[in-house]
Amino acid sequence: MAYYQRTVAGFSRRELMKMAWTLGAAAIAQPLLSRRVLGKPIFDSYPFSVGVASGDPLPDGIVLWTRLAPKPLEGGGMPMNIVDVDWEIARDARFQAIVQHGTAVARPELGHSVHVEVAGLEPGREYWYRFRAGDEVSQVGRTKTAPPPGAPVDRLRFAVCGCQHYEDGYFTAFRRIADEQFDFVFHTGDYIYEGRADGGRSDRRQRQHNGDELYTLVDYRNRYAQYKSDRDLMAAHASAPWIGTWDDHEVDNNYAGDFDQDGTPPEIFALRRAAAYQAYYEAMPLRASALPSGSHMRIYRRLQFGTLIDLSVLDTRQWRSDQPCGDGGRTNCAERLAPSQTMMGAEQERWLFDNLATAKARWTVIGQQVYSFAFDRSKANPAAQFSMDKWDGYVAARQRLYQRLIDTKAPNPIVLSGDVHQHYGADLKMDFTDPRSATVGVEFTNTSVTTNGDGGDVGPTWEATRADNPHIRYHSNRRGYIACTATASDMRADFMIIDKVSVPDLPARIGGSLVVHAGRPGSNTD
Ligand code: FE
Ligand code: CA
Repeated sequence: MAYYQRTVAGFSRRELMKMAWTLGAAAIAQPLLSRRVLGKPIFDSYPFSVGVASGDPLPDGIVLWTRLAPKPLEGGGMPMNIVDVDWEIARDARFQAIVQHGTAVARPELGHSVHVEVAGLEPGREYWYRFRAGDEVSQVGRTKTAPPPGAPVDRLRFAVCGCQHYEDGYFTAFRRIADEQFDFVFHTGDYIYEGRADGGRSDRRQRQHNGDELYTLVDYRNRYAQYKSDRDLMAAHASAPWIGTWDDHEVDNNYAGDFDQDGTPPEIFALRRAAAYQAYYEAMPLRASALPSGSHMRIYRRLQFGTLIDLSVLDTRQWRSDQPCGDGGRTNCAERLAPSQTMMGAEQERWLFDNLATAKARWTVIGQQVYSFAFDRSKANPAAQFSMDKWDGYVAARQRLYQRLIDTKAPNPIVLSGDVHQHYGADLKMDFTDPRSATVGVEFTNTSVTTNGDGGDVGPTWEATRADNPHIRYHSNRRGYIACTATASDMRADFMIIDKVSVPDLPARIGGSLVVHAGRPGSNTD
């Protein structure tokens, strides 16, 4: 590719200073044919092919993200050089009031992704941002900082979404999320699926994965790029800051800590996990605190939204013990009760428990992956008992968490989850077998954006299952997302439904709603 050759005339003043320092002034007059930093590359196709994003809002800052990928499905198509990427952030979408700008570097080691941690912004304010590389300008993104610390906040609206299997349908839920311009979007994981093209899903395939099952860093990069080239997903990222966590499919179905589902030796699986984690970091608007180290990456973190929301984001994949009684199956065995079973690992559990002791906001929100409530399907269907991949396989860990919520009196706990490709709303009980036992909080579980295809009415066994699980207050087997509205008095979850994902661009409708009144444990249907 000849597009990186250029003459001195194209260098920035900063670069010329740097060159003068290293080469001596006489050398500047000579054209440079190769150089480590490319300040003004010329691209043969659009480099912002995977869009822009922002994330992890603070009262005074935000992460701005993009990735240069002129050939998104072929490793990115960038030269193995560092490339300068200019960014700017403004108070208006037309960039007439630019408040900050700068230059970041896109490095080959990180797939030419860019993570800019902007500080010094005003709290609770909308901003717009964009990037420039060479003569190419990115899409414009809207974002919003968190409210001032300790300040009252009238209202926050956020989406809860996850599970977007590319082959199962159109990402219409993301288009509708983009329409809503939320204060933030919480993603519960399964941002990609790792399977090969047409992995047994031909009956409902709308679109096809590129390539085989993912193992290498470039495999994972290309899969993220394929998903991110979707216009609806791009629009959702450009509409609001995202706060994400991962589940299993960012690496491999139902993996648990160091163990995959195929019995691969842990030291071998660690290599794959490292590749997958790095690609996740590269693809998300994360802070440098999440930079991968070996086969680990810290994504559990805490975010505060004034006096309204205290959000702890969990990672229930990386540090959990293996699923008991077989891998992710539905069963009921004594090991699922073992005190040694951990969902978060000891260090993260301590961190969360400290957060709960110091939580002061009106709503204590725990954003994570798999549902924490007990879900007993054994009476309606003896073959399907408890799912060992959920907190039902880690009962002692669940009891420690719920007990901690009671002991700390963390205000109004709300748990968010996804993973199961169906909407659920549930009251969380100290003892799920006793409806009279204490209600410790409420959980909202989002359905998938697309995974499992269109969906439909609930099955004929549902009423019996619900009778065995009276704490479950809402259920839908259709695709969509949850729109949450938090005020000082209420937390409202509108379970949004897209009737078909086999047809693009359908509207969203409210399938049902649950409301939690502050100070009164449990959910209500009005
Ligand atoms: Fe999923
Ligand atoms: Ca999952």
